[in-house]
Amino acid sequence: MSEPTTAPAAEKTRALVLNSGSSSLKYQLFDMRTGERLAQGLVERIGEGPVADHAQALEIAAEELAAAGYGLDDPELAVIGHRAVHGGTRFTEPTLIDDEVVAEMAKLATLAPLHNPANITGIEVARALRPDLPQVAVFDTAFHATMPEAAARYAIDTATADRLGIRRYGFHGTSHAYVARATAELLGTPLAETNTVVLHLGNGASATAVRGGRSVDTSMGMTPLEGLAMGTRSGDVDPGVLLHLARTGGMSTDGIDELLNHRSGMLGLAGANDMREITRRAEAGDAAARLALDVYCLRVRKYVGAYMAVLGRVDAVAFTAGVGENSAAVRATSLAELPSLGIEVDPELNAVRSTAPRLISTAASRVKVAVVPTDEELEIARQAYSLARGPAPSPSDIR
Ligand code: AMP
Repeated sequence: MSEPTTAPAAEKTRALVLNSGSSSLKYQLFDMRTGERLAQGLVERIGEGPVADHAQALEIAAEELAAAGYGLDDPELAVIGHRAVHGGTRFTEPTLIDDEVVAEMAKLATLAPLHNPANITGIEVARALRPDLPQVAVFDTAFHATMPEAAARYAIDTATADRLGIRRYGFHGTSHAYVARATAELLGTPLAETNTVVLHLGNGASATAVRGGRSVDTSMGMTPLEGLAMGTRSGDVDPGVLLHLARTGGMSTDGIDELLNHRSGMLGLAGANDMREITRRAEAGDAAARLALDVYCLRVRKYVGAYMAVLGRVDAVAFTAGVGENSAAVRATSLAELPSLGIEVDPELNAVRSTAPRLISTAASRVKVAVVPTDEELEIARQAYSLARGPAPSPSDIR
């Protein structure tokens, strides 16, 4: 496993990204000179059958990588980047992993009980296999560490909030960072001078107000439950609803958690969490699906308006992730009839299907509307690589 001494350091141009969830392990290998994806794969159902645990999942990934011509012992591998969900207030930047970092991440598990333990397991098995290699954790919350205190604070008793770590951390940060930069490139304006409302609309969904490449407000909060309506999550509800569910509905804490995280959103309103099905049924006249779509788009619209007010001047609204990249209906409905805010979507451009970053606003639209496919793994690779090795050889090639 140790690298051959003949490999000069300058040749280490590859980065492996691991995204370790509770029952799955995703991996992608990049050439950092070009941003090219050399190999990728997904090991699923960890702990449910033949794949006993994360250690075995990583061994399978390593075998698949080796079959593609790149072992885990690849001498050109410079770094392993790990997706990490919750960095709390402790981790606000990509972080070189050591025992102390792993211990600190374990302490943060109370804030992300579903995600952080799985991330840590992935990190530990990767460190056991390649203890010689720099490994970097890239946190979903980190991009939002620049939010002003006024955006991060909930208006509740300060002592209680501080004791329990109750504040707005935000999520999807890696995606928002990537899309904000790619949008500035698309507009041809420097990132530092570009203000963007990024709409990450996937199975989970969040909006971020980005001023000059920095997050100044975001719709997810202490947990990924706040903000937009999502596939199975409610997003914003009156906190009094939770009290009512407990007092009058007799529901337990776990029952409320399950309802709001897993049985709400599009699933709760219309019985399906996939926006393709919701849109198809709405178009066929299904009233519940129509209402679900309207709730979804109205919530997006409200956050766009709010973040235009937060930013003062907005150059672009950028749609990304599964729904944002693919649903012309959601984009059109969310931004319909907003010329008073300087937003005009061009119906023909909006209808074009493409995987390239593109503008869908009219020439007259003061605020540009963009569709920018996200690439969280490449962003993790880039951040991990530059921490471990210094800036990538040709940063302008790596988007
Ligand atoms: P993500 O979490 O970014 O992978 O997004 C996944 C979600 O994107 C799926 O649950 C679908 O609801 C949605 N999606 C994917 N393709 C389409 C499409 N063509 N139209 C509408 N929604 C889509």
